[in-house]
Amino acid sequence: MRRMTRRRFLGTSLAAAGAAAVGGRRLYGETMPVLLGSTRLEQFDYSDVQLLDGPMLEQFRANHAYYLALNEDSLLQPFRQKAGLPAPGEPMGGWYSWSKEFDPPRNMTGYVPGHTFGQYMSALARAYAVTGDTSTREKVLRMVRGYAPTITSKFYEGYPLPCYTSDKTACGLIDAHRYAQDPMALAVLAHATDAVLPWLPPKALDRVEMAARPHPNIAYTWDESYTLPENFFIAYQISGDTRYLALAKRFLEDDTYFNPLAAGENVLPGQHAYSHVNALSSASQAYLVLGSEKHLRAARNGFGFVVDTQSFATGGWGPNETFRKPGSGDMGKSLTETHASFETPCGSYGHFKIVRYLMRISGDSRYGDSMERVLYNTILGALPMQPGGKTFYYSDYNNDGQKVYYDEAWPCCSGTFPQVTADYGISSYFHTDRDVYVNLFVPSRLEWRRAGNDVTVEQATQYPYAPEVTVRVHCERPETFTVYLRVPEWTGAGTRVTVSGKAVDAELRPGTFAAIRREWKADDRIEYHIDTPLRLEAVDAQHPTSQALMAGPLALFATGTLDGRFTRAQLLGARQRSAGSDVWLAESASGTVPFTTFPEIGEEKYRLYQETAG
Ligand SMILES: [Zn+2]
Repeated sequence: MRRMTRRRFLGTSLAAAGAAAVGGRRLYGETMPVLLGSTRLEQFDYSDVQLLDGPMLEQFRANHAYYLALNEDSLLQPFRQKAGLPAPGEPMGGWYSWSKEFDPPRNMTGYVPGHTFGQYMSALARAYAVTGDTSTREKVLRMVRGYAPTITSKFYEGYPLPCYTSDKTACGLIDAHRYAQDPMALAVLAHATDAVLPWLPPKALDRVEMAARPHPNIAYTWDESYTLPENFFIAYQISGDTRYLALAKRFLEDDTYFNPLAAGENVLPGQHAYSHVNALSSASQAYLVLGSEKHLRAARNGFGFVVDTQSFATGGWGPNETFRKPGSGDMGKSLTETHASFETPCGSYGHFKIVRYLMRISGDSRYGDSMERVLYNTILGALPMQPGGKTFYYSDYNNDGQKVYYDEAWPCCSGTFPQVTADYGISSYFHTDRDVYVNLFVPSRLEWRRAGNDVTVEQATQYPYAPEVTVRVHCERPETFTVYLRVPEWTGAGTRVTVSGKAVDAELRPGTFAAIRREWKADDRIEYHIDTPLRLEAVDAQHPTSQALMAGPLALFATGTLDGRFTRAQLLGARQRSAGSDVWLAESASGTVPFTTFPEIGEEKYRLYQETAG
């Protein structure tokens, strides 16, 4: 039994990043200091990309509506209470409201009051930027104005995770400024930063260092000071205030994390999973703002270790929120030992974010391959938010798996869920000064306002359930440029592309972008057929017979009879019920077993990894 290995990120040449790059670019407006790190690709604005009918648009809209309807008095209550202000409204409960019951790790009620306020504000600001919906912008502005008078340093007295919550609040205020054009947000951010400063540690601390300091309870050892630099760097870029630059540098976790990662040492095992992927975005900002090659190496290597040594077939990682020792067989053992396999909304949010940084910096399409795995197999299958903050938190890859809601209301994942769904559009396309890159194959329309010539790129597809992707390119005036299409590294020999019915001279090498360069006219149509062969992936080298069935980027989950024993040939002989169907059928010793995808699973039990023989 041999694991179908993916081409590894590590040891491959991303080193050219920067060499042929566009140069220090201004990303966030005119006040921004020049960036020293260069990028090959740029992100589009939120308003440039509209999702069209499909599950991603549905999920984005559901989250937009849910968070737009949140009661503002309830959201502000924990801050008003600490400031001694009138605090009307119903408490949110769960992690969000102060509670005497808090007794970690046994009772997490009242864990981090107000922690997701900034994330809800961020998600709404991004949703406004996507939709232009004025009631959404008005809510963001009301949230900023409601929060401003509550700001007090007293808020963080006896607060176990001041870094965590202040970082999320900063993100919300930054996004209110960037995406909802709130003229007050930067002043409020400065005030909020003053308030938390006395509670920040002298430098980024890992959990061992936090445990060595006095801590009233275990939750104090879980703060995430090492994720702070990303938003401090962004605050510096949009304000020009060098105080943020100094803070960003102060909290780079060089000693125990970035230095060894940059040197190629895998220091992930034992670390908290999501926050350490999130920290890689701080390293990426250190590269962009400071030009620090060391931090780029740390981000690249760290993410490479996640993909190569920590990931399930779904693209999810970190069982029990902890990275594992490669070669230990821990990933395989987790299939019977835990149901908390992947922290889905937070993990997806962090994964999408670091992929966008590394794709922009390197132009490497394989980051997009890893993004689409996480998209189709994890976050798109998250159960929708329920009234009262009931939230989908963990994907369950246990051999006896099931989808459930988290037992506490308003956990961390309720903050990142609407953020990642608002980011779907900007994750789908990238560009240079001349050319456009199609990263995700999703029903969507890109309005690309190029100098003097508007270009529209529109995708229609049922991918990855069907292999065809139609990309219409419409130019106001004929113009020559290149449309790049991601060729996933698992694609088969049947992959092909035509433009307006004619074969084109484009190399379709798996793991690269295919370049289609031509003069584009009023209505050209690219037909891209992505061959999605079935393959098997073992959970780890120590459990070679525990195999997941993959169809292109899709992990297929057995449903119905879960004790099916398969030969490899039986799994690889599975057939899709019909073109475009979400059901595949495989024969086993005990009969035909239906397989389906994570988004299609409801309340039924399922199994990701099958026991295989032969
Ligand atoms: Zn979470």
